[in-house]
Amino acid sequence: MPETKTSKSLLRNSIKFPTFRDLPDENDVDPTYYDEGPYRFAPRQHWCFLGEIVGSYGLCRALLRVKDKDGQTIGQALVPQIKEGHTVAVLYGEQHGFLDMTVGIRVEEASIIKIIPCSLEQLLKASDDVAARNLNSQSRCCGSCGKEENTSGNTYLRLCSRCKQASYCGEVCQKKAWVDGHKADCKALVWARWFAARNWEVFNGYFEF
Ligand SMILES: [Zn+2]
Ligand SMILES: [Zn+2]
Repeated sequence: MPETKTSKSLLRNSIKFPTFRDLPDENDVDPTYYDEGPYRFAPRQHWCFLGEIVGSYGLCRALLRVKDKDGQTIGQALVPQIKEGHTVAVLYGEQHGFLDMTVGIRVEEASIIKIIPCSLEQLLKASDDVAARNLNSQSRCCGSCGKEENTSGNTYLRLCSRCKQASYCGEVCQKKAWVDGHKADCKALVWARWFAARNWEVFNGYFEF
């Protein structure tokens, strides 16, 4: 029987992209994420929290309400340009107990937070697409009509110049796919590729958005 290649895509990895419950607590040293160094604790790998924006609130300091892969809803510090249904990514997020007794993620540096203009579901699906493409690079087909690339014949597919992931047999198919929904998927794919282009295993310096 042929071996079925099942690869869990990067963003579905529960250690590197933990849900809120699995984030390290800022008051503990979580051995999954930290090594004990000679002077202080240093991260041993990279991680990033992903949550979809479901609302915002707050008075002196604006807060976001987000839900993670488990569907758990938590509060999180606000950044501009928020929109419900978009996804917020926080590098090296930790559980933080706020003074008002709520628990969330405190974000104090702009370089570790990014609003990704698609839903969490779209982003996870894009990550699956990127993983599938990496597994089977030889058989590409048009993202609109399904025509397969045949380099010995004369069917060459062109890549979408933005996401460099979707491919099309020609301009007509590309334009059609764009209005049929690739416009939204494209942004998710750009970010899925951003995550996939980095080595999440080995820590040698913090990632930044
Ligand atoms: Zn086509
Ligand atoms: Zn694209």
